[in-house]
Amino acid sequence: MHEEFPTETPAVVTCGLPYANGDLHVGHLRTYVSGDVYARALDRIGQNVAFVCGSDMHGTPIAVNAAEEGVDPETFARRYHEQYEETFPEFNVEFDNYGHTHDETNTEMTRSFVRSWIDNDHVFEKEIQVAWDAETDQPLPDRFVEGTCPYCGEKARGDECDEGCQRHLEPGEIEDPISTITGNAAEYRTRPHKFLRLSDFQEYLQEFIDRLEGTDNAKNQPREWIEGELQDLCITRDMEWGIDYPGEEEEDLVLYVWVDAPIEYVSSTKQYTERVGAEEYDWEAVWKNHGTETEPDGGEIVHVIGHDIIQHHTVFWPAMLRGTDFNEPRAVMACGFVNLDGKAFSTSRNRAVWASDYVDSGLDPDLYRYHIVTGSEFTADVNFSWDGLQERVNNELVGTLGNFLYRSLLFAERNYGGTPDAGVSEEVEARIETAIEAFGEAVNDYRVRGLGRVPVELAKFGNEYIQRNEPWKLVDDEPEAAAQVIRDCVQLAKAIAVLMEPVLPGKAEALWNQLGEDGDIGDVDVETALSAPKATFEEPEELFEQIEDDRVEELNRQLQERIEAATADEAEGSRDANASETDEDTAADLEPIADDRVSFEEFKELDIRVGEIVSAEPIEGADKLAKLEVDIGLETRQIVAGIKQLHDLEALPGTRIVVVANLEKSELFGVESDGMLLAAGEEADLLTTRGDAEPGTKVQ
Ligand SMILES: [Zn+2]
Repeated sequence: MHEEFPTETPAVVTCGLPYANGDLHVGHLRTYVSGDVYARALDRIGQNVAFVCGSDMHGTPIAVNAAEEGVDPETFARRYHEQYEETFPEFNVEFDNYGHTHDETNTEMTRSFVRSWIDNDHVFEKEIQVAWDAETDQPLPDRFVEGTCPYCGEKARGDECDEGCQRHLEPGEIEDPISTITGNAAEYRTRPHKFLRLSDFQEYLQEFIDRLEGTDNAKNQPREWIEGELQDLCITRDMEWGIDYPGEEEEDLVLYVWVDAPIEYVSSTKQYTERVGAEEYDWEAVWKNHGTETEPDGGEIVHVIGHDIIQHHTVFWPAMLRGTDFNEPRAVMACGFVNLDGKAFSTSRNRAVWASDYVDSGLDPDLYRYHIVTGSEFTADVNFSWDGLQERVNNELVGTLGNFLYRSLLFAERNYGGTPDAGVSEEVEARIETAIEAFGEAVNDYRVRGLGRVPVELAKFGNEYIQRNEPWKLVDDEPEAAAQVIRDCVQLAKAIAVLMEPVLPGKAEALWNQLGEDGDIGDVDVETALSAPKATFEEPEELFEQIEDDRVEELNRQLQERIEAATADEAEGSRDANASETDEDTAADLEPIADDRVSFEEFKELDIRVGEIVSAEPIEGADKLAKLEVDIGLETRQIVAGIKQLHDLEALPGTRIVVVANLEKSELFGVESDGMLLAAGEEADLLTTRGDAEPGTKVQ
């Protein structure tokens, strides 16, 4: 059991590193905003905390895209790194340190981690099958190869099954590998590689997972992996871009990107200490192990990530830390994704609200922060839309929060020149104490959304309080009672300023200034919510303004036009070469027509027939395959086809299809396949006949 926040020991909050491979959109920003909110909230409750991150510069997608653009990977990645450094502050995301994985600190830190794994005998060498492009005679690490996930049968890219079961894939695991360099089928060749023996940490990880705090998805999802047999992690790749493996003579091996990426959390914290001094913040107190070998201890390490990288942070990463006798994560907070108008973002189709679009809209960054933080539970997917933003802003920020603040502060300034001379009432003091408690509980329960709700709930109370007491009716006849109500309202406003700072830092600062308070609101702690307000302050201004309908219509129109333009471009084949490949719907990208022509004679060698499906059943143990009996007139054939998940097998008998009848026989999953059915695209749209051609009729 961990001690509650705030603790004596310092804490660090990290965010999953952005991959320096493309522009950021408002979907990406959810993790960073959430991390920023959480770190600010820890700070408010008096926790010594650093908030760090950095750009992930290595790995194959960057190498692939840099090569396509004809620049070296470092130049390519640095451009995005610099862009990210500028973008985060535009959303009030303020890291204490923002480094990158290719800098000297991280290169040294990574190599020292790996050296200590070697010294502690957790690394071994093994010959493995590596995908290889025969035409260009080069190995195909990670994203240079695409194929089928061996676990779920979905299309998988390199080291992850990003469209299917989300599993990490080891080299050699991907089935039916295709080279992304030439589009050819890849071969597998034997190469020696280095492995981190994860099985050394199995027992440790099983205990670790019981200690781990954070969101339920992060605590539960890893159990399946940790309780089963742990597969050792290949930590090297055959490529040049990356951090060199620190061993003896393996000069053509670099470390796998998932080795040096999380180590950047440590490196970035170290850089922060180097800047402010260990007196103020000591990275070693946080990261080094000050406990025992089986139960490491140190500072409070909190990782904020997207839920697609839970395995990396709850299995690989704690093992990597343990292997070098460092402290372990206290909590992992895994947030859901962001959808755009109810559908996934698609950067390749330009179906995205880019960070720069939001900035250009002129809307305050705090509005986005509020929308994304309170739009759903942290672990659930959240929807971004301009209409949704408008609704939340107009109803909650303008209608509830802004309304309470403006009416009460205006009344206070007009009638009393500031805060009336009275003490705060017991009722209001107790209500603020409840809010402070709820705030502290949200921090300790890792509920980011709760942090956004607290100030709005308090404002709701304020509106109800002022309505119930009607100070405008009291002011002439019962001046003391009126002063009491307004005194309470100013206290509520001050409490709201403090409690809204994590989610709405810019607006909180503005409110702080309106209240005539000195200093930076980022330096006060939650108890300040109960300290006496300043006696005088200026006439307030409205903190939030309505987003008008025509503004939203304009923003929607711009987005729609862009999506349409991108779709048209795509149809003409002039798709942006830099488009990120992380989207779900690239399936519509058409392959170019084959260059090589075949003669009619060659075509005639294929014996293509009309067939009728007699029966269709799944093949046990195979994710995609189905066994069909197909009547092709002269005989009935057994054909194996990868359509199990794509069609309702029971509905198929009686369906006319088209079959290549003279293909060599093959065996798939131990089942003989005598022929091949024709189907279009990844959804396996079955080819059929338009008229009533009988089974066995030749297709020509
Ligand atoms: Zn999968």
